[in-house]
Amino acid sequence: MSEAPTNLLDLDLDGLKSLLKELGQPAFRAKQLHSWIYERGVSSFDDMSNLPKDLRAKLAERTTLGALSTVVGQTSKDGTHKRLYRLADGPLIESVLMPYNDGRRTACISSQAGCAMGCVFCATGQMGFQRNLTEAEIYEQAWRFHTELKDKGERLSNVVMMGMGEPFHNYDNTIAAVRRMMSELGIGARRITISTVGLVPAIQRFAKEGLQVGLAISLHAATNDIRSALMPVNRKYDLQELVGACHAYVEATGRRVTFEWALIAGENDSAREAHRVGRLLKGLNCHVNLIPLNPTASYEGEPTNDVNAAIFVETLGMHHISATVRVRRGIDIDAGCGQLRDRVEEVQPSS
Ligand code: SAH
Ligand code: SF4
Repeated sequence: MSEAPTNLLDLDLDGLKSLLKELGQPAFRAKQLHSWIYERGVSSFDDMSNLPKDLRAKLAERTTLGALSTVVGQTSKDGTHKRLYRLADGPLIESVLMPYNDGRRTACISSQAGCAMGCVFCATGQMGFQRNLTEAEIYEQAWRFHTELKDKGERLSNVVMMGMGEPFHNYDNTIAAVRRMMSELGIGARRITISTVGLVPAIQRFAKEGLQVGLAISLHAATNDIRSALMPVNRKYDLQELVGACHAYVEATGRRVTFEWALIAGENDSAREAHRVGRLLKGLNCHVNLIPLNPTASYEGEPTNDVNAAIFVETLGMHHISATVRVRRGIDIDAGCGQLRDRVEEVQPSS
């Protein structure tokens, strides 16, 4: 049986050096290869023009550049591009690229195939958990968009971990992949955001990571009863614990927290609920990002309407809490997916 090809994205510069040594190549070739993969962002060995032809042929035979295969890609009228990848062992994951008029190019990427957290309104939660993505599989999603944009003379400027899965349930691989996006793709920490369902111990750990990466918390309710019904994780880490961890995070990092809130008609979109949010988040440096629910197959909830959304924002304002309602992007290609390509705008600074 022949050996499985080495995924070059699994190797750092030292790893590339040992690989090339095995192939009888001098060390400087590793630097050249590294630069082709990351700085110049090519996706084919043929394009690596300063590498000898026979080396390119050997690399093509023994290695791969990445391990994700594209199943389908769709671009919506507003330019949002959604892509479905198949992992080497079968599961499907999704990445989204969102272009903005101000020049930002934001990738929304997945951390797991499926998700174990079971939030009732979420398409991924409804699928159940398949497996954690490896560091390379998380990273490759960003790298792919990075190389494709480079080809067009553009650059990937922002990344949000808001695709499939719970990033803090796959903490080590997520953080390692994020560090590589910073060091190898040159994406500033402040332009990367991790969104979590609210795993308190992981938030505490993240606060000590010393990274300037943004943190978004999926809140969706201001009472434990409502939140536990929507998000089973709340039975383990309730609102008081969660908000306590957010205060500690803000204190430790000096950064503000973003809260995400899917407005569900008749469930969590009343002025009364907004007042509760105001009391819950009193004194916390934060922003609330509101989005009308994206309907999904196994949840009967409906999106709120514009009037209730506006009242919600106004009510939060009475409590001095800044909030924004996001329009949906890529709605015409959104069928069947409960994820958010829309709420990312607020958490991503443009400068
Ligand atoms: N697991 C992480 C990140 C992925 S989900 C988390 O839960 O934060 C990204 C965001 O989409 C979360 O805020 C999540 O609550 C929200 N979301 C999931 N399903 C949704 C739906 N049907 N409508 C609106 N927002 C949804
Ligand atoms: Fe998982 Fe996030 Fe969906 Fe909840 S909202 S099921 S944590 S992906």
